[in-house]
Amino acid sequence: MNTKLINEKFAEHFGSSGELYASPGRINLIGEHTDYNGGFVFPGAIDKGMVAEIRLNGTDRVRVYSVDLDDYAEFGLREQDAPSQGWARYIFGVCREIEKRGGRIAGFDTAFSGDVPLGAGMSSSAALESTFANALNEIFSLGIDRFELARIGQSTEHNYCGVNCGIMDQFASVFGKAGHLMRLDCRSMEFRYFPFDPESHGYRLVLLDSVVKHELVDSPYNKRRESCERVVAAIAKRHPEVEFLRDATMEMLDEVSGEISEEDRRRARFVIGETQRVLDVCDALERDDYQTVGERMYQTHEGLSKDYEVSCEELDHLNEIARECGVTGSRIMGGGFGGCTINLVKADLYDNFISTAKDRFASRWGHQPKVYDVVISDGARKL
Ligand code: ADP
Ligand code: MG
Repeated sequence: MNTKLINEKFAEHFGSSGELYASPGRINLIGEHTDYNGGFVFPGAIDKGMVAEIRLNGTDRVRVYSVDLDDYAEFGLREQDAPSQGWARYIFGVCREIEKRGGRIAGFDTAFSGDVPLGAGMSSSAALESTFANALNEIFSLGIDRFELARIGQSTEHNYCGVNCGIMDQFASVFGKAGHLMRLDCRSMEFRYFPFDPESHGYRLVLLDSVVKHELVDSPYNKRRESCERVVAAIAKRHPEVEFLRDATMEMLDEVSGEISEEDRRRARFVIGETQRVLDVCDALERDDYQTVGERMYQTHEGLSKDYEVSCEELDHLNEIARECGVTGSRIMGGGFGGCTINLVKADLYDNFISTAKDRFASRWGHQPKVYDVVISDGARKL
């Protein structure tokens, strides 16, 4: 991260210097479409993030310079003071959400920059929110606990950016820890750190961005959720303790197979399998068994592609290339229909995998995938 450039820009705009705060983007190793089914996700913070230089300015106004967009915004702290620029609304939203929780803040100057690719599925927006939530909490000694900092980011997306997201991205950005992933239970909000350090076991983690995003006419996400809800309702007739698919077993699913559609059955089979795969991966990591981790990643891809049907030809192609190159694990990361695959690859196979993937993907789709190496790193912090 180029803190020197931020220092220069801050001095140029505000004529002084401030303190530096940083927060990362995130990956999710496994656990897809599990959040709204009350299940587990398994994210980690990455070595790409946002850095902001901040200094109180003695007024009731916030003055912000975006280094990457070369754009400037200025706004007050009242609800009616929302800035017009989309990027500035993330910062305004964080200020507002802090005030709604009773935290008193005052005007500040800031210049910020980040290296999380925008909209590639690594959550640049959560990195932005948690940078400011954490910084303002420290600067004004507000004593907001870390989980609430994540919620402030999530509420910012809901109330000021029109994005109805879950808590995973902000949670990972705030709680991230180098060499560890976090298994978050999306029902109880309990979480646990598990060791994950591919580099010291001879592996690398790399994302391949297909650079496609298929816009779909119907709303596939809502349809998937409805399928899940229908299956839960069918199972709950016999097993009232089943509140979410996370509580269901494959046996329970078999019992109701005559009462649900074939499509709903496949959707539920993916979710029930995925819940178990997250647990399997956690167990495997406690034994440093990266081979099993990789196998589960491939199974997740298969399930997302065939049962949940949220893949696309470009992502299936990237997955196929990974298999052929002997990559240990590969799968779609995120909701699907485009974006990245996440790949766990032995260090000595890395170069061949990347060059093969670039060539083969480009010859079929006319452009190369983008390559993002990631290392699991710490969460929100003061530099
Ligand atoms: P992502 O999946 O990366 O979170 P989003 O669409 O949720 O994608 O958020 C991207 C938005 O966050 C951008 O449109 C911009 O408003 C803001 N943003 C992210 N990174 C930066 C940055 N480096 N500088 C300014 N704004 C940023
Ligand atoms: Mg986002």
